[in-house]
Parts: sequence; C-alpha cells; structure tokens
Amino acid sequence: MFRPLWIEVDLKKLRNNLVRIRRCVGPSVKIIATVKQSAYGHGLVPVAKELLKAGADFFGVGSLEEAIALRQAGFKNPILVLSTVLEQYAAYFVKYKIRPTIVSVEFAQALNKAAARAHVKIPVHCKIDTGMGRLGFYYEDAYQFVAALRKLKNITLEGIFTHLPVADSNGNFTDYQIEIFGDFIKNLAKEGVRFPYQHCANSIGLIKYPRAHFNMVRPGLILYGIKPVFDAAMRLEPVLSLKSRVIFVKRIKKGMSVSYGRTYVAPRATTIATIAVGYADGYPWALSNCARVIIKDSFFKLVGRVCMDHVMVDVGNRNDINIGDEVTLIGHKGACTISAEDVAAWAKTIPYEIVSRLSLKIPRIYQNPHLKK
Ligand SMILES: *Cc1c(COP(=O)(O)O)cnc(C)c1O
Repeated sequence: MFRPLWIEVDLKKLRNNLVRIRRCVGPSVKIIATVKQSAYGHGLVPVAKELLKAGADFFGVGSLEEAIALRQAGFKNPILVLSTVLEQYAAYFVKYKIRPTIVSVEFAQALNKAAARAHVKIPVHCKIDTGMGRLGFYYEDAYQFVAALRKLKNITLEGIFTHLPVADSNGNFTDYQIEIFGDFIKNLAKEGVRFPYQHCANSIGLIKYPRAHFNMVRPGLILYGIKPVFDAAMRLEPVLSLKSRVIFVKRIKKGMSVSYGRTYVAPRATTIATIAVGYADGYPWALSNCARVIIKDSFFKLVGRVCMDHVMVDVGNRNDINIGDEVTLIGHKGACTISAEDVAAWAKTIPYEIVSRLSLKIPRIYQNPHLKK
C-alpha cells in the first residue's frame, strides 16, 4: 500500500458491543446481527466471524450477493436477506440455504417450486408494513397474504417482521406500530398460524422500546459502536478508525487561497498540511471548510474544499507537523476524539452514510481478533 490511507477495525470493541446488546435483550431473545453493505463499511467476513464468536444467532444482509459471500466464506448459521429480489432468482435461496424476506405471493410461489424440486422445505420470514411504507403489504391486507403463503407446502413460515421508521423521534407512532404488529401476530395465532420468530426492533427500537424486542432483534449501527441518536442510553465503543498521513507541508502568506473555488483565503500567514483522503474515498465533499482532524494529539481545521484524493488542514504556526505524520479522521488519539457521529453532523448527514460509504478500496486492518478457534 503506497497511499497512506487505512481503516482500523477493533474486533474486541465489536464483541463488547454485542455482549452489551445481549445483556440488554436477555438470553431468550435471538439476535440478527445486521451486516449489510459490508458490515456498515467495516468489512463483511471479518466482522461476521467475530460476531458469530460473540454470540450472534442470525446474520441480516442487504442482498443475495452478501448472503452467498458469507456461505462461500464457510458460515453455516442462519442468514436472512432483509430485502427482496426478483422471483427469477428464488432458486438461489434454496441452493445456498438462505432465508428470504417474503413480500409477494409470486416470489413465494417461485421459491416453493424451487424447494419442491430440491425436495426440501425452506424457512422464510414474512415482512408486513405497519408504517415504514417500504416493503411488505400494509398489515390490514397482510392476512390474505399470509393465508396464500400457508398453501405452499415447501416453505416454512419461520418469521414475521416489520420495521420502525421513527423509533428515534416519535413515541406515539412507534407504540402504535408495536401494538398493531402484536395484534396481527395474536390474530393469526387464533387461526392456528404461529411464527416461531417475531421481530421489529433495529438499534434504536432495541434501546428505547423493550416491548419491541418480541423474541428477536435486528441491531445494526450499535454493533459498530455508533449511536443512532445522541442520547441513546447504552454504553458503546466505536469500532472503526479512519487514518491517513500528512503528504505535504508548506507555509502560505496572508491572502493566499487553498483548494478549488478559493473558498478559503488565509487571514494570516500560516502552515498548510495536505492529507491523503478525499471524497472518492467516501470522505464527504460536504466536509469542505468544516471538518476537524487530529494530528499529534491536537485538533486542526480542514480548510478549503475537499478534493477527490486530498484535503488540506491549517496547522497554524506549529512547526512540528511533518510529512509522514499520522492523521486521525475518525477515531481517537490522546485526549482527542472524532466520532462518526461528529463527522455526520459536520457533513449534515447521518452516521450510517458516513461509515457505509467508506470506499471498499481502503485497506481494513483488523485488531484484537478472538483467539479461541
Ligand atoms: C438495516 C436494517 C436494520 C438495522 O438498523 P440499525 O438502525 O442499523 O440498527 C434492521 N432491520 C432492517 C430491515 C434493516 O434494513
């Protein structure tokens, strides 16, 4: 690696976060560790390996590609694809023993056919809509949907789930969703339809609504030690650090400008350090003139626009900042910390976007793996 840009992933912190989630939900609630989009940018297989050792029951992925990648890496535990795919690909769920999310009768029929051909029964999770407005029938129309699925002999209704869009911000709506989801399950049970697994809680739902745990939860962001809201009441350890190095240093005079658009004009003579990171790496252009970085235990301000491969920081009159010095863009150094939440706030986005868009070209370095086989 010639370009000094890398990500450090602390696997011990990842395990600690899962242990805290386990403590929060109790021993009888199953955990679907959500590892979609390369484990929120942390790296799919190394993260999945560690989560499994720390007690994850299922993996939740975003695509059939990710599910197959886990199977090909040797994982044998249950994997649920949290989205849906076109029905022409149904047979892959049978071939790789992957649980699909069912949102249409047509897909279920195609799956049923593929399972019958292979002489197996395939477990599925049905998704119903209680207010997310994304995948699945609205719960009132979902009774008929479930009735149609029951006719299919080669699928097993293993799970039923829904999703909470405002667990961070609207208690009334979230309570209402939890209630109608619970009622839906009870009404079906009266007709003799039982789903072994029932789930609706993502990270924030899990923390704020114990009633939303049912018997399975789907944490994502908090596994990685990132808080979906600032006041989330769970101790978490951030897992990922983004680091680079100073690749050039120079003095500039008062009135000289830095980067495209000349949006930064030095108000005094100062020293500018150029760092090897840019928007093509997933370091947002929106951080132009507003991020901070850590060099040698101090914060410095990013000045001018973020470039494709570079950013510049104003190091003032410090004469101890040199080419090759380590720069922390996300993470901590000495007493200074920059969280993914901080970076998201500066870029006016959400921390999910910050970590999941970190380029997969950036090398990941995995620290503190669990040593027991
Ligand atoms: C991504 C996702 C989750 C995890 O959400 P977090 O907010 O990261 O905990 C849970 N459920 C579904 C359906 C998802 O798509």
